[in-house]
Amino acid sequence: MNAPQDPAPYLRDLLERFRELREGKVQSSLPGMDRTGPDTFAIAVATTDGQVWSAGDDRHPFSLQSISKPFLYGMALDQLGREAVHRKVAVEPTGEAFNSLTELEEDHLPYNPMINSGAIAISALLHHAAPRESQQRMMGMFGEYLGRAALVHDAVKGRELEGAHRNRAIAHLLRHFEVIGDDIDGAIRLYAWQCAVMLDTRELALMAATLANGGVQPVTGRCAIQRRHVRDVLTLMFTCGMYDTSGTWAYHVGLPAKSGVSGGVMAVVPGRMGLAVYSPRLDAHGHSVRGVEVFKAWAADWGLGVLGGGEHGDGSVHPVPDPAASAQAN
Ligand code: GLN
Repeated sequence: MNAPQDPAPYLRDLLERFRELREGKVQSSLPGMDRTGPDTFAIAVATTDGQVWSAGDDRHPFSLQSISKPFLYGMALDQLGREAVHRKVAVEPTGEAFNSLTELEEDHLPYNPMINSGAIAISALLHHAAPRESQQRMMGMFGEYLGRAALVHDAVKGRELEGAHRNRAIAHLLRHFEVIGDDIDGAIRLYAWQCAVMLDTRELALMAATLANGGVQPVTGRCAIQRRHVRDVLTLMFTCGMYDTSGTWAYHVGLPAKSGVSGGVMAVVPGRMGLAVYSPRLDAHGHSVRGVEVFKAWAADWGLGVLGGGEHGDGSVHPVPDPAASAQAN
């Protein structure tokens, strides 16, 4: 099956197929609205010509969290150029959790911009380039993707700042290895802001559709990121966007994607559409449990994988082992 003319009935069907999936835990550090309704569930698709379809709690607001990372990476490429950015952060998957310090400690350079160490290095770069304007510029960038003024949730941002001990530890290690400069607070502040940007599932699909559309927001027609940098963002989303399950995701879904601990997941079908799922119960890797399962079925049903088809190009779905889960079991 390809994408149907009117996807709304299919989206409603997806919602019903996965509604009973109630495994996983809501991230405990998310205050306020992010924690309400562990069963909240929404699915949306936005096409590169600006049409949006959705089902479920599609206007329920949540925070971007780590889904902000590819957008900040794109902003850094636009403002500072590839060379300056990649002096500070590599392009290699880690096989580690999003907030790992292990590989940083060993190799002294963040492995990629999709994990906390890389995103904090990017935040430091952007903050250092314009200390007084970095927040405003970042909100301007998010506003271009959203097609409206971007807003942050104060309590989410506050919690992100006050509970940021692990992220501060990462920032101090980055400072120790001279990846970033002295203004650790500035970098952590910008990082906290990006995690606390609020949106709903329809808007997340539109942000993904902007990347699918070469950086042009499909509704406003405005440029959110230079076309020549979209490829880098999508490449890093494909290889590193789902952290230590990026390989499994590529095998099952085959699309550049990014998840966040609020429960959002977005994926990009280049040239065609942006897809988004929101459901806040998370697996051990910090991905929405329903989000991952919905995307496996969706990619297989619509034959979306960039390397052909859905799971195996023939739409069949079968399980493969999760090395992290089997390591825990042993
Ligand atoms: N705010 C979270 C953190 O820095 C974002 C992580 C995520 O969404 N995976 O730990």
